[in-house]
Amino acid sequence: MSKNYRAELVGVIGDPVDGNPTGVMEEAGFAALGLNFRYLTIKVLPQDLEDAIRGVRAFHMRGINLTMPHKVQVIPYLDELTEAAGIIGAVNTVINQDGKLIGENTDGKGFMIALKNEGIPVKGTHITMLGAGGAAKAIAVECALAGASEIKIINRDKTRGVALAELITSRTGCTAEYIPWTEKKTVPADTNILINGTSAGLFPDIDMCPDLDYATIHEGMTVCDVVFNPVDPLFLQKSRANGARTVNGIGMLVNQGAMNFRLWTGREAPVDVMYKTLEAEFSEE
Ligand code: NDP
Repeated sequence: MSKNYRAELVGVIGDPVDGNPTGVMEEAGFAALGLNFRYLTIKVLPQDLEDAIRGVRAFHMRGINLTMPHKVQVIPYLDELTEAAGIIGAVNTVINQDGKLIGENTDGKGFMIALKNEGIPVKGTHITMLGAGGAAKAIAVECALAGASEIKIINRDKTRGVALAELITSRTGCTAEYIPWTEKKTVPADTNILINGTSAGLFPDIDMCPDLDYATIHEGMTVCDVVFNPVDPLFLQKSRANGARTVNGIGMLVNQGAMNFRLWTGREAPVDVMYKTLEAEFSEE
């Protein structure tokens, strides 16, 4: 029988991309299952994006992740979008299905799996989202599609906040409202799930956290953070001190990575291996 020396290729393209930890996690998963897959971390400048996607086709790559600044700009070069990617208007994962490039957005889906694993339902809940950037949008859209009854968007920049609230109200069955971010912002008392969808608190700014009146966070709330480095940001520590249950950003990151793994390899991802690899990676810093 002839041997196959050809590795299946996946990866991430972006700029800056050097600090992107996804490859460590995906490669640990491939090794655990003995798959001859390689995850390449590739610098691609905005003006080279079209060529890079041509490269994905030419190299018969199984797929690719996109990070800054390509998540929106990549769309014209793809053949199809999933429902969520279409509504969000951004793609973080491409799947090469026999030459057809399908754009998906697994950021929000990873978050939903992390919540489900913690036994936290979303259907019928009142959600308060801090932020209106890419991560906040992906999560808010998935929460709306999963049947959240109301989403309040608190963001510093009004234009972005209003646009996200309008997108949710017009494209999903959920109502959304923009609330301006004033100093020491009060968290709406009826909030079931409070999400930090901003980059406040991200390494190296670990002493920072969203500007809230933390006394308005209570034990009836589940508080989640998209920030995954540090693993337990100040925002979650302060929320826990007020009795809230907390969910960190690692679950979201690992579960979106696991979903990409399944989409590319067709195999169930070794989530525990991937989780431990990432946790160890961040605890080294
Ligand atoms: P964007 O640049 O698209 O959005 C950033 C958002 O953060 C904006 O809403 C911005 O508000 C807000 N913001 C930034 N700093 C502050 C601050 N000090 N106070 C209040 N609001 C602030 O970034 P992304 O959405 O792509 O990324 C956001 C975070 O999510 C990053 O930390 C990233 O690492 C993390 N992330 C985590 C993932 C995971 O799997 N866990 C996946 C993807 C991202 P404004 O509009 O007013 O400027």
